[in-house]
Amino acid sequence: MSESAVETHCPYCALQCGMGLRRVAGAEPVEVVERAGFPVNLGALCGKGATAAAVLRPGVRLTSPLVRSADGELRQASWAQALERIGDALTTTARTHGRDAVGVFGGGGLTNEKAYLLGKFARVVLGTSTIDYNGRFCMSSAAAAGTRAFGVDRGLPFPLADIPRAGCVVLVGGNPAETMPPFVRYLRELRENGGRLIVVDPRRTRTAESADLHLAPRPGTDLALALGLLHLAVAEGRTDERFIAERTTGWEETRAAAMAHWPEHVEAVTGVPLPQLRRAAAVFCDATSAMVLTARGPEQHAKGTDTVSAWINLCLATGNAGRPYAGYGCLTGQGNGQGGREHGQKADQLPGYRKLDDPVARAHVAAVWGVDPAALPGPGRSAYELLDALGQEVHALLVMGSNPAVSAPRSARIADRLRALDFLAVCDVVLSETAALADVVLPVTQWAEETGTLTNLEGRVILRRKAVDPPEGVRSDLEVLHRLARRLGHPDGFPTDPEEVFAELRRASAGGTADYAGISYRRIAAEDGVFWPCPSPGHPGTPRLFLERFGTEDGRARFTPVQHRPAAEEPDTEFPLRLTTGRVLSQYQSGAQTRRVPALNSAAPGPYVELHPQLAERLGVREGEPVAVVSRRGRTVSPARVSSGIRPDTVFMPFHWPGELGANAHTNPALDPVSRMPEFKVCAVRLERA
Ligand code: SF4
Repeated sequence: MSESAVETHCPYCALQCGMGLRRVAGAEPVEVVERAGFPVNLGALCGKGATAAAVLRPGVRLTSPLVRSADGELRQASWAQALERIGDALTTTARTHGRDAVGVFGGGGLTNEKAYLLGKFARVVLGTSTIDYNGRFCMSSAAAAGTRAFGVDRGLPFPLADIPRAGCVVLVGGNPAETMPPFVRYLRELRENGGRLIVVDPRRTRTAESADLHLAPRPGTDLALALGLLHLAVAEGRTDERFIAERTTGWEETRAAAMAHWPEHVEAVTGVPLPQLRRAAAVFCDATSAMVLTARGPEQHAKGTDTVSAWINLCLATGNAGRPYAGYGCLTGQGNGQGGREHGQKADQLPGYRKLDDPVARAHVAAVWGVDPAALPGPGRSAYELLDALGQEVHALLVMGSNPAVSAPRSARIADRLRALDFLAVCDVVLSETAALADVVLPVTQWAEETGTLTNLEGRVILRRKAVDPPEGVRSDLEVLHRLARRLGHPDGFPTDPEEVFAELRRASAGGTADYAGISYRRIAAEDGVFWPCPSPGHPGTPRLFLERFGTEDGRARFTPVQHRPAAEEPDTEFPLRLTTGRVLSQYQSGAQTRRVPALNSAAPGPYVELHPQLAERLGVREGEPVAVVSRRGRTVSPARVSSGIRPDTVFMPFHWPGELGANAHTNPALDPVSRMPEFKVCAVRLERA
């Protein structure tokens, strides 16, 4: 890498690829250069990372606070005016409706320092239980199932470098060839080493095309598929009885549940032909070591937690956990999807992955914060429930690092709920669809303009360094929290220096599940990141979890007996098709940043409806012609993309676009009873020629 370049990381997904940023004189203040030495991506970047400097352009980002004036327009204002308006509104709302009427909504892209300080701000300054974040819409089902089985939720309990050394990898509902292309190297090396790749996806994606075996179940039936594979493993005597006896509990009930799912029944439910099911079971069970990796496909369902448990059960029953090159992992999505769920912006959580309803945890964190444990509010509403309560029980909202007007399920209703608020403040880099609805918008620094830590999908804590000064008029999120806290009567306890915040986070997380006590900025820089838990400065960090014991009280992994059940909304005569949603190569999440990058926007300018040729013929629709997708919640029109790679009973839309273009206009807010994850990945629709 060029000597003058700053070693840092991409602003987007959970792979957190290493990159260099070098100062240049041009439209963009820096250019992205290769950082070949960072082990996760070895210099490789996808198009999003390679063009990331474009979002630093002055014309793209906000540079002044905006305050809605009496005529309803957002107008430029000073920081003092904007902060005064927020402080007054939050105080008035709490006085009028109670503290829980003030809500806070965070994001899985916030640095660890911001997520930590935002949670502290909500509990200590606002005294509200009403805080959650958009990561609830991302990995919460995998997190709940991982905690249920292993006592610990870390996306991958092993480093990425272990993947090529497995004998078999089953990738369920993920398409890294589009969502995180540098990750594909690990799958390629797996196959070069003789390992087998099985991809489970209702679409023949770019990732599925590279697999040894592609299973294409109906959306919403991954749970049945996992039960069918476990049934076959048991029936053919391929379970690891010694591992089950020595390292697990709860097998008999799980075994009985799986045996009730006959392969023929699983074939009928999933649409996966029985020979493929048998072949997948044989490949998985024959492997010397096997991994199951899930992504949003099986997780974003009203039964997402049970579905992930079913895949974990398969791993446990076959002895594929707690040993090298084997196990269950989740491919986390957002940039800090892992760290963002560890340090207190979740409704039920305190830093270090502590539980808010645990008296010992409350006492520890309250001591770090210098407050009475009794003063800390209890658990609050989950993300969708919080957004659904806007304008009713929640009257003022502070949003940081999130764009729920696009990313939430049933997005048109959520936009209406945001409009129904007495007061909305949004901290963002650009005027996102959510910011456009706000009473006050604060322009904040972004990735290359600030320093902070993030935790990637392996549990590796990395340091994203500042490479360029922010434009005049822009402040950091930490400074926003500092100044608001001071205005609301808390002059101390909210530092603006990220390293100072991280030092406090280390103390708050010490002894917790996600223990960062031994991690420092210096160590991260010297070691290319440090894996948690790392309880002391002399501790090497923990790349591989569970080798000796699992994180449960008795050290054993727990089976959870689960049963398949239909989607919350199954097709019927009025809505006979299943809609599933996902991402495309050149856009990221709600698109707030990537839709503003010209190269990305011209590569992926808008949504489309992917449908099978048989379905297209039945409708009389040809490639590129407009098609209306109609659900119980909305109607959108986008061009048809005809593909034989999708099931004839299923249609697909990418979800990066807002309003009448948005796939999330249709998605079903039915919630998982454990994780409170909405059912993004399947709902009933019909198609009409438009
Ligand atoms: S894979 Fe993810 S982290 Fe890597 S360059 Fe692309 S968006 Fe950035």
